Amino acid sequence: MKHLLTTQGMSKDDAILLLDTSAQMAATQSRENKKLPTLRGRTVVNLFYEDSTRTRISFETAAKRLSADVINFSAKGSSVSKGESLKDTALTLHAMGADAVVVRHSASGAAHQLAHAGWLDAGVLNAGDGMHQHPTQALLDAFTIRRHLVGNVGEDGRGTDTSVGADLAGLRIAIVGDVLHSRVARSNVYLLHTLGAEVTLVAPPTLVPVGVETWPCRVSYHLDETLEQWQPDAVMMLRVQRERMSGGSGSFFPSPMEYSRKFGFDARRLAVLPDHSIVMHPGPMNRGLEISAAAADHPRSVIVEQVANGVAVRMAALYLLLSGDTGTSTEKTSTEKTSTDERNTL
Ligand code: ASP
Repeated sequence: MKHLLTTQGMSKDDAILLLDTSAQMAATQSRENKKLPTLRGRTVVNLFYEDSTRTRISFETAAKRLSADVINFSAKGSSVSKGESLKDTALTLHAMGADAVVVRHSASGAAHQLAHAGWLDAGVLNAGDGMHQHPTQALLDAFTIRRHLVGNVGEDGRGTDTSVGADLAGLRIAIVGDVLHSRVARSNVYLLHTLGAEVTLVAPPTLVPVGVETWPCRVSYHLDETLEQWQPDAVMMLRVQRERMSGGSGSFFPSPMEYSRKFGFDARRLAVLPDHSIVMHPGPMNRGLEISAAAADHPRSVIVEQVANGVAVRMAALYLLLSGDTGTSTEKTSTEKTSTDERNTL
């Protein structure tokens, strides 16, 4: 595995390998000493051109838990503000011997460009490119869904993960809200479908992208009807991405109050779901807009656990990219399994 750029086209074997490796990583994180020697001497660069809290911290934590050297580069305060191009930044990172580059960029396609333009030898991990993809977010979402709805991790989510090796066949996942601007929705639709889940996108027509009919999912414009009649096993709320709405939120829906009334998730809507259903959100949340505080903080909300699982998933991705597995990339990755010896070092 050389790069992790997208979930579209990722094979089921690779997706399950990533989830199972994440489960192994998660098991190491309940030990007193959380640090593994696996990537000692390797350098991971976090190259963030767009704001981020949890993804950047999560990748940094993951790399450090694997004993890699971590360099954090944020566009603000760097030569990017003097006009330096992505190419020149990449050449600098190459000269400094980066082994992996975790990139977030506002331009869709930036991670692909970095991986394939020939500027770098490093493995590239896409930490979110514009409205396109955010593969580690989808993997941590799938991992969280699998632990809760396929395995049995107990009330507090800390039990043994009995879901290792499993897919998500037959599960129903509703992804609700600002689908138009969401790389999280795009990444999840493809990954969840590959893993055998059924996905319904729920959004106002103005927040549904053109061409959605080619995606492997259904679309609904009615949240209450979807919850009552389809009875999803998980409801994944999306943030209303006001920073990507150039005309202001008013051009996509009449008012925040109306959006909230029709598409916001709250305790009343939670009560309609089956007892085992879970509530998810990738963060950051607009409390009171797409999700109420009561729903976000409800015992069936797994939002904080998603953050914790993000570290294990990113450890797995870094490990599989840097551990010497000579497959190609997750655009068309090798299904070659990591050797027993390598696994034993976890
Ligand atoms: N944190 C996620 C992302 O970077 C979701 C969001 O920002 O709404 O895409």
